[in-house]
Amino acid sequence: MAAKITTDGLYRVSYAETPGLTREEYIKRQPLRYEEILPGNPKPGDYKFVSMNPYQLQHRIAPSFHKGKVILCADSAHVVNPFGGLGLTGGIADVGSLYDALLGIHKGLADDSIIEKYSEVRMKIYKEIIDPMARENFNRISSQDPETAGDNDEWFKLCKKAATDLELQKQLCHGLDVLTHDFTQYWNKEKDVDQADGGKTDILVESRPVEGGIVA
Ligand SMILES: Cc1cc2nc3c(=O)[nH]c(=O)nc-3n(C[C@H](O)[C@H](O)[C@H](O)COP(=O)(O)OP(=O)(O)OC[C@H]3O[C@@H](n4cnc5c(N)ncnc54)[C@H](O)[C@@H]3O)c2cc1C
Repeated sequence: MAAKITTDGLYRVSYAETPGLTREEYIKRQPLRYEEILPGNPKPGDYKFVSMNPYQLQHRIAPSFHKGKVILCADSAHVVNPFGGLGLTGGIADVGSLYDALLGIHKGLADDSIIEKYSEVRMKIYKEIIDPMARENFNRISSQDPETAGDNDEWFKLCKKAATDLELQKQLCHGLDVLTHDFTQYWNKEKDVDQADGGKTDILVESRPVEGGIVA
């Protein structure tokens, strides 16, 4: 995948490599691989090379996002391939959920069980949405002819249309809302003095750490 990431012509190029080589061997092979895979078969000198970071592509999830005082989110909880930006986005959605869960405890509107709910819901979202979507993105890129994929693949056709269709761009961005989950729905709203009187009453906020403290 070669994606333009700045307006002054910088590209990010991600490609597969032979497994089992050293970091130095991967770096040494880079000019050869660019010449093989990029349009126009560019040689060193045809482009300015900025940096390189060989890494192992993985799909993994922890058996639970909560154990004792430890709560996992983002890459510490799960990783996926980078095609589609679901690693970072999924992590940000985790943090949004965790924020609401912790705030509920902090305000005395939720008990510690909301953290177990956090683990359960975020794991479900990874398994049912993030992981399959990321695998589909990977297969879309790795299994098609790059010369024709833009005209044959339904997703690429949609992306091409979105390049000039603002409304469609917005819809596609909002498609990622499926990764979020509102944890304030598990708060005991009847206790929420802030909401009940429109936020006029001062309340004493009791902080109740999970089993003696939280590390997130
Ligand atoms: C090469 C590569 C390309 C990627 N491309 C994309 C992409 O295009 N789109 C996308 O959405 N995602 C992409 N990702 C994934 C994305 O970078 C991660 O999902 C995201 O950075 C996870 O955020 P995080 O805060 O969980 O972890 P990190 O960003 O890894 O942050 C963890 C931080 O903790 C620090 N740390 C580690 N151990 C300790 C310690 N003991 N004490 C103190 N600090 C410590 C680390 O230095 C680091 O700063 C890519 C990942 C890689 C490796």
